[in-house]
Amino acid sequence: MSNSDLFQEDLVSETDSGTSEDNSGSEEEVASWISWFCSLRGNEFFCEVEEDYIQDDFNLSGLSTQVPYYDYALDLILDAEPQPNEILTEEQHELVETAAEALYGLIHVRYILTSRGLNAVADKFRNVGFGRCPRVLCEGQACLPVGTADLPRQSTVKLFCPRCQDIFCPRSKYQSNVDGAYFGTTLPHLLLMTMPSLRPVDALVPYTPRVFGFKLHSSANQSAGATSAAAPAANPRSNALQQKVEDGDHDMLPVS
Ligand SMILES: [Zn+2]
Repeated sequence: MSNSDLFQEDLVSETDSGTSEDNSGSEEEVASWISWFCSLRGNEFFCEVEEDYIQDDFNLSGLSTQVPYYDYALDLILDAEPQPNEILTEEQHELVETAAEALYGLIHVRYILTSRGLNAVADKFRNVGFGRCPRVLCEGQACLPVGTADLPRQSTVKLFCPRCQDIFCPRSKYQSNVDGAYFGTTLPHLLLMTMPSLRPVDALVPYTPRVFGFKLHSSANQSAGATSAAAPAANPRSNALQQKVEDGDHDMLPVS
């Protein structure tokens, strides 16, 4: 799915406080494609990849076969002026725009695992740029983006909470459309390994279910499961009835 198709009008992100300034003065420098793409609604989890990283062919090895219109898409990402003989039709431009978004995602997942990329992610994490854990007992712990697959088009991006070590769907439906492969399965774990100071200080507080103030016995869930799954004979009431029948006490039986 092309983000540009969906969000073409959403050039200004609500969460980015800097964009109102960019919008006000036409004399000011026009934002780069990368800044524009990262400011689109739903793309808030993306970090801005440094242009010199993208300009190094070594960093892009193997990507040319994964994305159509690769050269055009790369030029678009780097804001390169098109050659006079490379003027595209509107339809072709839309295809290139979609390809550029996919290419940027594939570059992004590589970049965020480099030391510069990890630092960019760490800065954003410190500013709670990826959102907070929805779990009550995590007390608003800042989260990190993670994919559940490293291949594109397998699953959308999720949020990893370093405190409860679980993953969640992002709150924004726009963010929920972003491919998880553009963040990968490694990012949060590599970041917390290489920067231990980012690990949560407070220990995990497990939730304790209570009925009328009493903690549930460990067998509580087992017997509930057995009652629903097993035959009526497992029901204590049925057992008592069965015992009365075997004892010759027929008073309890319904009249047939
Ligand atoms: Zn949590």
